[in-house]
Amino acid sequence: MHRGIVIIGGGFSGTMTAVHLARLGVRGITLLERREHPARGVAYGTEHACHLLNVPAAKMSALPDEPEHFLQWLTAHEPAYAQPGAFVPRPFYARYLQSLLEACAGAVVTLRDEAIAITPDGRGLTVETRGGKALPATRVVLALGNFPPGNPPISTPGFYSSRRYVQWAWAPHTFDGLQAGDDVLLVGSGLTTVDKALVLLQREHKGAIHVLSRRGLVPQRHEPADALPPVLEPASAPRTALGLLKAVRNAATGRNWRAVIDSLRPVTQQLWQNLPVDEKRRFMKRLRHFWDVHRHRVAPQVAEQVQAAIDAGKISVHVGKLHGFHEDDSGVDALIDTGQGRMKLHVQRVINCTGPESNYRNLHHPLVASLLEQGLARTDALAMGLDTDERGALIGSDGQPSKVLYTLGPALKGKLWETTAVPELRTQARDLALRLASM
Ligand SMILES: Cc1cc2nc3c(=O)[nH]c(=O)nc-3n(C[C@H](O)[C@H](O)[C@H](O)COP(=O)(O)OP(=O)(O)OC[C@H]3O[C@@H](n4cnc5c(N)ncnc54)[C@H](O)[C@@H]3O)c2cc1C
Repeated sequence: MHRGIVIIGGGFSGTMTAVHLARLGVRGITLLERREHPARGVAYGTEHACHLLNVPAAKMSALPDEPEHFLQWLTAHEPAYAQPGAFVPRPFYARYLQSLLEACAGAVVTLRDEAIAITPDGRGLTVETRGGKALPATRVVLALGNFPPGNPPISTPGFYSSRRYVQWAWAPHTFDGLQAGDDVLLVGSGLTTVDKALVLLQREHKGAIHVLSRRGLVPQRHEPADALPPVLEPASAPRTALGLLKAVRNAATGRNWRAVIDSLRPVTQQLWQNLPVDEKRRFMKRLRHFWDVHRHRVAPQVAEQVQAAIDAGKISVHVGKLHGFHEDDSGVDALIDTGQGRMKLHVQRVINCTGPESNYRNLHHPLVASLLEQGLARTDALAMGLDTDERGALIGSDGQPSKVLYTLGPALKGKLWETTAVPELRTQARDLALRLASM
């Protein structure tokens, strides 16, 4: 088999790296994706039109050098949504990415399989797949995206093997067998919870929808806000988590807080990199949930729909910490510590909607485990992702940047923090392709 570049993971990051490589004239690219369809990933793999992009169309071009590109695609294919401020259904975005990939068909071969190991083979690398293939590669790009969440710690962990429990809200079987009158508990109150609640509302689900929030925080909604220049200058900004919190609060006094948060986007990576490791850890423990709900907002129409369902009593939001579960034939009692005591919710299904596992030491991912074991990769200081040089080359256990293994996207969270959404990923994909094409 021809030896070329193998990209593992066909979400936005992997797809766009392949597209840029092809546009730069590189041939023999293999895009390996374990899910049925490439060019979707978790975010755009939804079939539900009620799942909207949480970023306005004007900011969703996949090509950093052509900011109007997505709007132009909408004009040609979905003209009703071709407005800069529109929040477009995510399945449309999948079609957009698919069209970019299809235009590169001569250069990119897509393969449905899961990479489970990578080994050096003298002339480069061999990627081994679950399906039994051995793909020879000159270079490999890991575009693995986000991982399923871990199980919240509870007193009855045996419940996690129950058929009533769904560990990963995006698994295809999440709602299988759910009866219209079944009561559901969504654990967590972030964007995944919003998405799952929307599906239940769309199905006109008759049972109760309970949402359990650890801190009572829910994603804020988008509202118009005039753009501001960054309210913090990385060189002079505080270098502690608390100092940053105070500085942002001060900057927001008398201003639109959305504009203040958005103004930090171009400098967030720099602010993060200036924090000492202990302060990054403090941010993760104490502040990240507050940051997330203000930074990752939902479309106004989504916020309205959820609020209407709360007002109508279809969705109930509870604040507390999971204690454990007791299951019987009729369902499961979820025991929740509220701070004032223990409450009990009787439901038929529990869906874990907490955020992706962000500790690489807890992952159950054979490929990552194999790379770490062989010393071909190491985690960053916080184990939130993989350690790399400035341009995405993996750093191995010898401390040296690899000449053959690269990554981008959420794997760089520990290094950059702000590395999960299209505005950052499109630039990373282009820059990595330029690096690989110039070798
Ligand atoms: C529900 C949701 C909504 C979002 N909405 C927006 C939005 O509106 N705007 C925005 O900018 N961002 C949004 N995001 C952020 C989104 O994560 C990024 O925009 C982007 O899609 C991330 O792409 P990725 O390729 O890095 O990761 P992913 O989309 O997670 O793709 C990684 C892919 O790698 C595959 N994979 C992993 N391991 C292997 C293996 N060993 N072998 C083969 N394949 C493998 C996975 O199956 C997956 O398809 C959203 C995220 C989510 C979860």
